[in-house]
Amino acid sequence: VRGQPLPFAGLKLDRADNLRADPERMAELAGPDARLLRLEGLIPRLGEDACLQWGRCGDLGDDAELVFLGLLDGEALFAAVPADGDTDPAYTRRETWAALGQLGPDELALYGGARSVLDWHARHRFCARCGGPTRIAKGGWQRDCTGAACAAQHFPRVDPVTIMLVEHDGRLLLGRSPRFPEGSYSALAGFVEPGESIEEAVAREVLEEAGVRVRDVSYIASQPWPFPSQLMIACHAHADDDALTIDETELEDARWFTRDEVRDALENGAESRSFRAPTPQAIARHMLQWWLEEER
Ligand SMILES: [Zn+2]
Repeated sequence: VRGQPLPFAGLKLDRADNLRADPERMAELAGPDARLLRLEGLIPRLGEDACLQWGRCGDLGDDAELVFLGLLDGEALFAAVPADGDTDPAYTRRETWAALGQLGPDELALYGGARSVLDWHARHRFCARCGGPTRIAKGGWQRDCTGAACAAQHFPRVDPVTIMLVEHDGRLLLGRSPRFPEGSYSALAGFVEPGESIEEAVAREVLEEAGVRVRDVSYIASQPWPFPSQLMIACHAHADDDALTIDETELEDARWFTRDEVRDALENGAESRSFRAPTPQAIARHMLQWWLEEER
């Protein structure tokens, strides 16, 4: 958490918002030789060097919807909206995860951002207000309703999710959902609801899922998570009481883990005798690492 950016964060790209609003400049930048991210649907195509592959905008038809990703060393990068968005949760797609495991941090961030906005376009071809067709605008960072009487503007969504380390007497509360792999535990998490602060969302989720009241919620770090568009907001909170009342519709189990157990899980992977820690791409794993390193 400290020092280097989390997976999917740290994108080293000039998003050049000033250019997005200029259709003539956008058309110039998106010439036939402009660089186009190669994807199959939303799955990244990697070369033998385990890097993202690039084609040219000229390879596409005239009606392709292009998203301007930004400028890298002055060069414009684009990606095309696929015919379909992701209908399956991405983590079930083996090809996507195999590719993500190979990408370096910069390319992971580039792919994640592109994937999230492309998937949004593919799933928002119609106006949520009037049902009319929408068209891509502002370099791909907006969609406009084509209905003259409506003309609503729509923006790529980011959904805030709180994910929290709840601590009591030197132990940490972790839970497992029924869809987790055998033996896996992670930090509790949940979407922020309208009308809630981050601190309130943390407290509500922990109370709903585990029956635990928390205080002193503090922020640790955040991470974009492109499946499809969450912003993971990592927090820490204290509990005064360790009694659990588990909501079995959400969690299969929740338990308090000692520092030694968390260390065992992080260091020994599948061989761990305590639990299986979250994947290296997930902020939850970095939160556990942070907790071990914090002197409290
Ligand atoms: Zn409309």
